[in-house]
Amino acid sequence: MSDCLFCRIISGGIPSKKIYEDNELLAFYDISPQAPVHFLVIPKKHISNLMEAAPEDAVLLGKMLHKAQELLSEQGCAEKGGRFVINCKSDGMQTVEHIHLHVLGGRSLGWPPG
Ligand code: AMP
Ligand code: ZN
Repeated sequence: MSDCLFCRIISGGIPSKKIYEDNELLAFYDISPQAPVHFLVIPKKHISNLMEAAPEDAVLLGKMLHKAQELLSEQGCAEKGGRFVINCKSDGMQTVEHIHLHVLGGRSLGWPPG
């Protein structure tokens, strides 16, 4: 989708600090990091939000989760872990309408969210 920010990042029209890319996924650093490590994992397929994901997207969503933990480990967070978050629609405070998995680590994160 040409009017989607993350689709434009995927196509290279908007620059990003890429961490990982394959034919299905892209991972890049969040422009406004909320922790010492904060990156996003997105599918190249445009899915607006988790509520819009179809049953046939389940494997892709699983790959996002697994790649996220691999990359967080590579960032030095294997021992202490971190947080994997998908904000969804208005109550979830989703601001970019292309599904994305936030991956945060490098500090102790508060719970519950405000
Ligand atoms: P959400 O509020 O869950 O929709 O998260 C969207 C995230 O995208 C926020 O954490 C933003 O800081 C991040 N973001 C917005 N624009 C960019 C960009 N151009 N490059 C990297 N991250 C971005
Ligand atoms: Zn998109």
